[in-house]
Amino acid sequence: MTERLTGHTLLISLIATPIRHSMSPTMHNEAFAKLGLDYAYLAFEVGNEELKDTIQGIRALGIRGSNVSMPNKQAIIPYLDEVSPEATLIGAVNTVTNIDGKGHLVGYNTDGIGAMEALKDEGIGVKDQIITLTGAGGAGTAIAIQAAFDGAKELRIFNIDDTVFSNAKETARKINENTACQATVTDLADQKAFKKSISESNIYIDATGVGMKPLEDISLINDSTLIRPDLVVFDVVYSPRETKLLKFAKKHGAKKAINGLGMMLYQGAAAFKLFTGEDMPVSYIKELLFKV
Ligand code: NAD
Repeated sequence: MTERLTGHTLLISLIATPIRHSMSPTMHNEAFAKLGLDYAYLAFEVGNEELKDTIQGIRALGIRGSNVSMPNKQAIIPYLDEVSPEATLIGAVNTVTNIDGKGHLVGYNTDGIGAMEALKDEGIGVKDQIITLTGAGGAGTAIAIQAAFDGAKELRIFNIDDTVFSNAKETARKINENTACQATVTDLADQKAFKKSISESNIYIDATGVGMKPLEDISLINDSTLIRPDLVVFDVVYSPRETKLLKFAKKHGAKKAINGLGMMLYQGAAAFKLFTGEDMPVSYIKELLFKV
């Protein structure tokens, strides 16, 4: 036990399964220590079956907030007292606050904010931009909704014809109804449309997880003529740090080839602000955890 833990220490939890690999406990605890905040952040193996009891526990123990990951991001919603507008549209929550430990639980989703902040960190804004996005699962939906809220001009979503395809359609419908952004969905099998879309886009985002094990030898772009010096390529994967897509984009001279580390850092920073009201010392955490 470190010296800084006392009888007054406030607890923040992370509830998901599997979760032991997560960088979030280290990220938040290092940030608490750096700022001298009397909080501790612990991960708990919690699946859907334990969720109801866990929520009761959060309320009973006055746990001040929680991050939520798979498989609980959607399942937690019915147990909350309030859900933020963006989390409602995304249909998933990754952060819950319990201000002053009074048991009023509010759900947020900081994944999309994390992605937008990661792009900003590289000098890239989404306002008025045309974005091609592959993947409309948890990460893709959060990115699509946030980019639309942040003023993207067009979001061209491409998804394989699997169970997520209908979610992609639903996400596009919500964006078209609630924002000025124009969203479309196309089957990724239509490679002609996919290539045309990328050739007209400012930013290409891959939110599929292709490029991560066991798909580390796959990239959804293999045609070097699609990589232009004014195209930003962003892959949400951070392990490996450089996916096949990012290597390809770099090799063929893309404007930027950005991995998912920044998204992961900034979704955490946005959650940290909601938990504590303080700004996470991101430069310090970046250097400590990511050696950048
Ligand atoms: P998900 O299962 O909800 O969605 C996966 C998406 O990829 C779906 O749209 C699916 O149709 C598509 N897909 C799956 N296999 C494909 C293939 N072979 N070709 C093309 N499309 C395919 O998953 P998720 O929770 O959205 O996570 C996706 C990735 O995002 C994972 O690698 C995850 O680690 C990463 N992620 C990163 C961060 C971050 O902070 N950097 C945050 C959340 C998720």
